[in-house]
Amino acid sequence: MKRIGVFVCWCGSNIAEVVDIDQVVETIKDYPGVAYAEDYVYMCSDPGQKLVQDAIKDKKLNSVIIACCSPTLHEATFRDLSRLTGLNPYQCEIANIREQCSWVHKDNREEATLKAIKIIRTMVDKANQNESLEPIKTPVTRRALVIGGGIAGIQASLDIADAGYEVLLVEKNPSIGGHMIQLSETFPTLDCSQCILTPKMVAVSRHPKIQLLAYSEIQEISGYVGNFNVRILKKPRYVIEDKCNLCGKCLDVCPVITPAKFEENLVVRKAIYLPFPQAIPATYTIDIEQCPGFLPIACGKCAEVCEPEAIDFDMQPEIIEEKVGAIVVTTGYDLYSPQKIGEYGSGKYEDVMDGLQFERLLSATGPTGGEVRRLSDNKVPKRVVFVSCVGSRDPEHHLPYCSKICCMYMAKHAMLYKHKVPDGEAIVFYIDVRAGGKGYEEFVTRAQEEDRVLYIRGKVSKIFKNGNDKLIVWGADTLTGKQVEVECDMVVLAMAMIPNDGTKDLISKLKISSNEHGFISEAHPKLRPVESISAGFFLAGCSQAPKDIPETVAQASASASKVADLFAEKELKHEPTVVTVDENICNGCGICISLCPYDARELEIKDGNRVAKVNETLCEGCGSCISACPSGAAQLRNLTDNQIIKMMESALS
Ligand code: SF4
Ligand code: SF4
Ligand code: SF4
Ligand code: SF4
Repeated sequence: MKRIGVFVCWCGSNIAEVVDIDQVVETIKDYPGVAYAEDYVYMCSDPGQKLVQDAIKDKKLNSVIIACCSPTLHEATFRDLSRLTGLNPYQCEIANIREQCSWVHKDNREEATLKAIKIIRTMVDKANQNESLEPIKTPVTRRALVIGGGIAGIQASLDIADAGYEVLLVEKNPSIGGHMIQLSETFPTLDCSQCILTPKMVAVSRHPKIQLLAYSEIQEISGYVGNFNVRILKKPRYVIEDKCNLCGKCLDVCPVITPAKFEENLVVRKAIYLPFPQAIPATYTIDIEQCPGFLPIACGKCAEVCEPEAIDFDMQPEIIEEKVGAIVVTTGYDLYSPQKIGEYGSGKYEDVMDGLQFERLLSATGPTGGEVRRLSDNKVPKRVVFVSCVGSRDPEHHLPYCSKICCMYMAKHAMLYKHKVPDGEAIVFYIDVRAGGKGYEEFVTRAQEEDRVLYIRGKVSKIFKNGNDKLIVWGADTLTGKQVEVECDMVVLAMAMIPNDGTKDLISKLKISSNEHGFISEAHPKLRPVESISAGFFLAGCSQAPKDIPETVAQASASASKVADLFAEKELKHEPTVVTVDENICNGCGICISLCPYDARELEIKDGNRVAKVNETLCEGCGSCISACPSGAAQLRNLTDNQIIKMMESALS
């Protein structure tokens, strides 16, 4: 028998108001194995921890149970305390008598007290058989992979690189910059988006610690925190980056035109193209899906005029294999397709557009040079209607969440339109105005008061044409209770933000989890907001949830600091509570191998027999293999079958 100390916390009144603490302490004192029992109002406070430390020394305890809140909150606190006091941390256990007892049995003090005693008894029985364990140590590759070259990926890369670690930045498009480089001005300060982003893009391209792989995609990731193996497909541009001098002569001769994605399909581009003037890497790319092809060469005009001989029709896809220790996922967002909301006429009427298209109209580098003009007739629209929450907060489209930035960019759009067309009218249809951010509420007020943007509280039901060149917007004004009909020249829809179209595929390659809408899940929404549930993966930007630029940048820097923290030590410490295989019992059936969600198990031949082997650094102790193993060969350290049976006997006695 061990000498176990039990320390019962009141958690202020959280536990003490429901559970009879005195009765718990008196009862548990006499339980086999318990050498000492004590209670205190806040066991996690300094005096509470001192009480535990003193008792470990004075009473010569070799195991402790803290009966308190969930182990997710204070297990680390008390295991660390044990370590500092000379006790192996894995001889310290938490008995959760708050979430699992007092909080759910508020109405019956007697039964809550009995349950608390039983919970503590089960942990005493477990602790009696606990082994002292040491963390599993593995070397760490101090090099990070950042997936996605928008503002989140750019910021994370720069911060990690500035901390002194190498970064591999992979972007699937021909240039970094993401959606931010498409924007006109940014709320609430109205800085030019390109002016504030391009210095960071240049810094990425020049940073000695950053290797940029644009026009590249992740094919496969294996391994585990500290030791990931990455396979990347570098797509051929058919233009040699170092040779292209951006002369643009190829543009003049290329006969193929196709919608320009960077310009949100408002204009066309050639099959050979530079996405935008400040693109990084600064090089042209041939869009092979549009070019009539090279096998045999069907056109070849660009190569004929390219003086530096930058065109290489023989360029092949390249597979690049790299090792990294941590991965930051910043894959960004797409807009929900306006065509899915047929009643708003997008796709049918040229002058109904989404927010990103309007950004390009407003942008000085956009297709109209920053002038707001209708696509249908090139006229300046004299009345523009902005519609909020299109798809967002709409269970009909399975997007019940708020896209968070639309209220602000609609105010910005309306304001910038008024600056460009002072005699124009801007009308915003809104459900609520959600302007939660520094200076945001003031910004919306400024749009309403200084720029005289008219806000109508109500949802738009239909947008259609009345036969002439005007658009008709039907909606309800919920403040007056009246139907509203507005005739206008242009409509801008604030479409819902959804995860980028590659995110789903990437999530399955990375084996990280996402929520029901496809946004990547964080380990804890409040306490670990930039970490994925899977160790070694960090998150930033809209791949996790809709967010604005300041929040994205803050999250990217937070992810970078987590990566730097991971790389601070040469070795990683992994929880030793992993599975072991008793080779004398294992019959090599292999049932456990495919069940392991972390690929931690494989079969090996030992003394002529097949047996299962566990990679301890990959095992997360999930227990899937244990429950499936027909022979009982797989056992979790410090939670063996014997311990579980003993705990169940205690709970049921
Ligand atoms: Fe680049 Fe050649 Fe085109 Fe000039 S002609 S932009 S060097 S690919
Ligand atoms: Fe354009 Fe392709 Fe002809 Fe080059 S080969 S000019 S990219 S169509
Ligand atoms: Fe894999 Fe889970 Fe078994 Fe560990 S406990 S080997 S992670 S199935
Ligand atoms: Fe061995 Fe059990 Fe795995 Fe079968 S399921 S290979 S017996 S550990």
